[in-house]
Amino acid sequence: MAGFGIGWRPGEPRPLPGVKCPACGGGMELVRSCQSVTLRCSACGAKYPLTDFIDQMDVIEEVLGIVPLDRI
Ligand SMILES: [Zn+2]
Repeated sequence: MAGFGIGWRPGEPRPLPGVKCPACGGGMELVRSCQSVTLRCSACGAKYPLTDFIDQMDVIEEVLGIVPLDRI
């Protein structure tokens, strides 16, 4: 896994502007655990792997503060 943005602690969700939950259309947020990052819907609580949102990686990278991101 690539590096994370400086100062982002595990368990501290970050909103993802413009990214919608496939299930309910609610707003998504990035949630970091110790070793991985998942996307969670702030409305219905559904969780998705980053790879489900590969087409919106530019937004995710920006939120994560990863420059550049070679692979997931
Ligand atoms: Zn949802």
